[in-house]
Amino acid sequence: MELVEESPYRFRIDQRDPMRVPGVVFATRSLLPDAGADKSLEQVANVATLPGIVDASYAMPDVHWGYGFPIGGVAATDVERDGVVSPGGVGFDISCGVRLLAADLDRAELGPRLDALMDGLAEATPRGMGKGAVWHLADRAELDGVLRGGSRYAVERGFGVERDLDRCEDYGAVDDADPAQVSDRAVERGARQVGSLGSGNHFLEVQVVEEVYDDRVAGVFGLRPGQICVMIHCGSRGLGHQICTDHLRGMEKVMSRYGIEVPDRQLACAPVSSDEGRAYLGAMAAAANYARANRQLLTDAARRIFNRQTGQGLDLVYDISHNLAKLETHAVDGVPRRVCVHRKGATRALPPGHEDLPADLRAVGQPVLIPGSMGTGSYVLTGVPGSPAFASTCHGAGRVRSRKQAVKAERGADPRRQLEEQDIAVRGVSRRGLAEEMPAAYKDVTAVVESAEGAGLCRKVARLAPIGVVKG
Ligand code: 5GP
Ligand code: MN
Ligand code: MN
Repeated sequence: MELVEESPYRFRIDQRDPMRVPGVVFATRSLLPDAGADKSLEQVANVATLPGIVDASYAMPDVHWGYGFPIGGVAATDVERDGVVSPGGVGFDISCGVRLLAADLDRAELGPRLDALMDGLAEATPRGMGKGAVWHLADRAELDGVLRGGSRYAVERGFGVERDLDRCEDYGAVDDADPAQVSDRAVERGARQVGSLGSGNHFLEVQVVEEVYDDRVAGVFGLRPGQICVMIHCGSRGLGHQICTDHLRGMEKVMSRYGIEVPDRQLACAPVSSDEGRAYLGAMAAAANYARANRQLLTDAARRIFNRQTGQGLDLVYDISHNLAKLETHAVDGVPRRVCVHRKGATRALPPGHEDLPADLRAVGQPVLIPGSMGTGSYVLTGVPGSPAFASTCHGAGRVRSRKQAVKAERGADPRRQLEEQDIAVRGVSRRGLAEEMPAAYKDVTAVVESAEGAGLCRKVARLAPIGVVKG
């Protein structure tokens, strides 16, 4: 794969047949994936062949290999010019995302109560492969409420406050969810998991604001140095996974009917305006709402524990998805066009002044939440004006070692003890599960965030250090 260095933060993959646009990789040279071990840059080029793709096939600095599309990939297709939607461009964990909650409490004030707080949070957070969940739905009507209403429905049912919705992307629910496109199998898998973390990479973390880079913006987000926060990372569980599987299969079958050829079967897709495209988008939206309700329910459980242990509340800073396709309007060659923006392992990052932001955030831009790892740290960023890549940025540090390689790299060391030596309290499910998620499994989040900033995708606001982690 030949890369042309356009700037220290931007590389180009020149367009060649059958690519329809070039590839653009936002990264420093040292962050570029190792071509021998990771085929994600080939995937960037493959995505560039999709019908209707505009501008470029983009990769964020946390890019790594994924199903069809790379994780850390962004691609937009022109809806009015036979642009396609591809389930692999969203991923199996539809609307997986992050929310950050902030307490009116400093690390010093929390003091030795951290351990009891972690025990409470661990007990109140259903996780791992088990079936537990915060909310036991009474019937299909309640599940449909979740699928259509997302966090809004959860708040209506008492799991949160109205203000939470102002601090959610899309005010807590995406439109056009179509529960009729969700298979019985997907419903079966999802019905008993509403309000559960899932496994592995998903977590609930207690963090401290360690550094603030922009006082004004941090203040508007409700963040200050020394403050205690809670970050939750989870998605749409078995329901989203099954929807992705179902619709990939459906699209594989009909692609040729639309005259679509792709260089990799995993890029199965259909025109946004086709029956199959609309069906997928309707089901995807339902899963997106499920994921948002999921984060809302885990928030409610965490608030109860937090309040019991500290007497304090937790205010939502923001809730953002990093696996989603969305119909948006963007200037393409200077002309506004309706495009389907796929963000897979990528975060929307709206600039200051954007009309989709709530009034109290509009002056400063959208909070962008970037988890790093349970042993290093995480970042809060904000969108910047005139950014490339349809107002998107990275979503994490990005994996560099497979789970298996990560376990091997730990060479039998006890991950729990290692973290406790850094004063990070750990509530895991298994030793192997923790080993798979140790910092060595991921890129350096600071290097990733600084390269996203260098590329003009976003701007740093604050850094968060972990002090306790509940792992899925
Ligand atoms: P993904 O959605 O791709 O599974 O994960 C997003 C990012 O979360 C990863 O790229 C990684 O940087 C970060 N991450 C994974 N586990 C943890 C954790 O336990 N704590 C924090 N703060 N970040 C994590
Ligand atoms: Mn996920
Ligand atoms: Mn995720």
